[in-house]
Amino acid sequence: MKRILFAGLLATILFTACTKQNDRRVVIFSFDGLRWQELFTGADSALVADIRFVKDTAALKDVFWKDTPEARREALMPFYWSYIPEHGYLIGNRYKNSLMQVSNAMHFSYPGYSEMFTGYPDDGRVKSNADVPNPNHTVLEAIQEDPRYNGKVLVYCSWETIRNAVNAQRAGIPTQLRRTGHNLVNIEGLDIVDIERDAITLSGALTSLKKDHPEVLYIGVGDTDKWGHWDRYDNYLKAIHVQDAYIREIVNFCESDPFYKGKTTFLMTCDHGRGYGEQFVDHDSSIPGSDKTWFIAFGAGVPVKGETTDNGPYYTKQFAATIAKVLGVDFTPDNGEKPEPFEIN
Ligand SMILES: [Zn+2]
Repeated sequence: MKRILFAGLLATILFTACTKQNDRRVVIFSFDGLRWQELFTGADSALVADIRFVKDTAALKDVFWKDTPEARREALMPFYWSYIPEHGYLIGNRYKNSLMQVSNAMHFSYPGYSEMFTGYPDDGRVKSNADVPNPNHTVLEAIQEDPRYNGKVLVYCSWETIRNAVNAQRAGIPTQLRRTGHNLVNIEGLDIVDIERDAITLSGALTSLKKDHPEVLYIGVGDTDKWGHWDRYDNYLKAIHVQDAYIREIVNFCESDPFYKGKTTFLMTCDHGRGYGEQFVDHDSSIPGSDKTWFIAFGAGVPVKGETTDNGPYYTKQFAATIAKVLGVDFTPDNGEKPEPFEIN
């Protein structure tokens, strides 16, 4: 009798544990080359009035320049700064000694995405942006291979090479690349002229959340990097502002939909930093600052700590372990070492 009771209890515990894990959804965002400086302090005084990088400095300052870093970041990313500190935490404000960086030696995109999703820096093999499959097993592949999540993973990305960097193609994960003519979700008052690539990606992802209900959705955006390389700090800031507006829509939808409400963890990071001052236009191992990254988590299972200070160094390679932990998926990077996940339940 005792044994039967115990077996029954054990079955209940296992059932509860399994259903709990099966109930978690995760929405992952990456932002190509979005610096920690803008995320935490808004428009940069060294760039916002520089006519080499801004077409109409008065107009740009009018919208994004404020007296304090807090007011500047709220003007640039009103959703982030009104919502995330009360629903999760942020890491990476170097002015407050919160430290995060990549551990790869390249400091550009493919190696950044690879580190993010494979859990380690493979500097020997991953050292170009060539659009080829990642030689490493990625956490998205591990999730797709898990019977609980097979067929429930989707990827939307602005840069087509992300598909190979995360091995979505190899894993058979449906991937939507940016497409012209895709129906945009219009957001009132938002000027998306010239910066429509991410708007298309984010609109498509929002539509897919409503229609397809993926349990795991990865959205990779990147107008920030494009405008950075094209010497346009004004459009780099506008791209961040557009991303923020669409993310508000996505989070609001998830908070209103029974499939996602209260069950969804949101994870965000970037693939690399950029140079300081006028060197913001570029990034690689020769440009100081290019290795600096940041991390954001909010939603289900995330401790509410707001903007964190005096911590780290954290590394981009911890991102894959965090995704795996949220979903209860076993994932060991190909180098055999498991980095600590970021704090999450
Ligand atoms: Zn770049």
